[in-house]
Amino acid sequence: MTNKKQINWVNTLFLTLVLAVGIVGTALIADAGHLQMPTVYLAAGFMFATGLAITAGYHRLFSHRAYRTAWPVRAFFLLLGAAAFEGSVLEWCTDHRRHHLYVDTDKDPYNINQGFWHAHMGWLIYLDPSKRDFKNVSDLSADPLVQLQHRFFVPIAILMGFILPMGIASIWGDPLGGLIIAGALRIALNQQLTFCINSVCHMLGGRPYSETQTARDNWVTALFTYGEGFHNFHHQFMFDYRNGIRFYHFDPAKWLIKSLALLGLAKDLKRATPKQILRYTVRIDEHHTLSTIKQYSDTLAQHTERLMQPLRESILQAASHLDQLEKDYIALKTRKLDYLKGKMAEYQTLIKEKKEQVKLARSELANALRHWQQFLKQPIQTSAT
Ligand SMILES: [Zn+2]
Ligand SMILES: [Zn+2]
Repeated sequence: MTNKKQINWVNTLFLTLVLAVGIVGTALIADAGHLQMPTVYLAAGFMFATGLAITAGYHRLFSHRAYRTAWPVRAFFLLLGAAAFEGSVLEWCTDHRRHHLYVDTDKDPYNINQGFWHAHMGWLIYLDPSKRDFKNVSDLSADPLVQLQHRFFVPIAILMGFILPMGIASIWGDPLGGLIIAGALRIALNQQLTFCINSVCHMLGGRPYSETQTARDNWVTALFTYGEGFHNFHHQFMFDYRNGIRFYHFDPAKWLIKSLALLGLAKDLKRATPKQILRYTVRIDEHHTLSTIKQYSDTLAQHTERLMQPLRESILQAASHLDQLEKDYIALKTRKLDYLKGKMAEYQTLIKEKKEQVKLARSELANALRHWQQFLKQPIQTSAT
C-alpha cells in the first residue's frame, strides 16, 4: 500500500457527532419526558422537505438538468438543500457527475466495487476536497445563486439546518428539541438515506434497462430514498426528470417536479420516449432468453433468435409510431393560439383526431408487447422439457 489514505477529519467528526448528538440527545429528551409532538412533526416534515430539495433540486435539476425552473424555485432548493448538510450544489454535483461518467471504476467517487461501506459513507471519510477541480460543473457555476450558495455554504447551512428549526420550535417553547431532533437527528437520518442511494441502490434489485453497470431498480428502496430506488433506470436515462416511470411508482421528487410544471414554475421536463426505453428492455429480455436456451442447444437458440427478430421489430416500430404521434399531439397543443380566431371548432376536431390516433398507437404497442411476452414464456418451457 503506497498511497496511504488521509482521513478527512471535518467530514468524519461532523458525520459521527451529528449522529451521536441526534440519537443520544433525543433519547435524553424523551427520557426526561420533554419530547414534544409538534417538534417531532417538524423534524419529519423538515426531513422530507430537505430530502426532496436534494433529490428534485441537487440531483435532478442541478446535476442532470432534467428540467428548468424559475430562480425562486432554484433559490428554495439551494437554501433547503444546504440544510441537509451534504455540501454545496457545486461539490455535490461535481462528485455525482463523476459517479455517472465513471460508474463502477476507480474514478467513481462512490464506486460500489470498493464495497458497501466505501460507497455508503467511507468515501466521505477519506475525501480529499483539494482534488475537486469543478471542471464538470462549469455550466452550474454560471448561475450567481449557485455561486453564492457555494461561497457562503457553512453559514447558510447552519442557519437553515440548525437555527431555523430551533427558531420554529421556539414558537411552542421547545428550542432545544428543535436543535436536537429537527436539527441534528433529522440531518443524520437524512444523510443515511441519501447514502443508501450510493450503496443499497447499487446492490439490491433488478437491472431491467442496463446490465453493464451495477445500479439497481427496487421499489422497496424507492420508499426510503424519495423515489431514487429506480436507480437502474436513472443510470440509463439520467436526463429524465423521473426515476420511477410508472404512475404508481413511488417517486415524490417526480410528483413535485410535475406539480411545479403545472403551476408554471418548471418547464422543459425531459423524459425518455417509449422507444428509447423499450430498445433496452427488449434487448435484455432477448439476451436472457437466448442465453438460457443456449445452455440446451445452440441451434435452437439461433432458431429462436430468428423468430424473435420480427416480434422485436414490431415492438420498436409501434413504439416509434407512438413517439411521433405524441410529439405531434404536443406540437398541436402548443399551436392552440393560432386557432383562437374563429377556428376553435377546427382545432377541437384536430385534437380529437390526434388523441384517437395516440390511443390506437398505444394499443398497437401493447399488443406487440403481449406477443413478445407470450413468446418469452414459450421457448423456455420448450427447452426445459
Ligand atoms: Zn448511482
Ligand atoms: Zn444521478
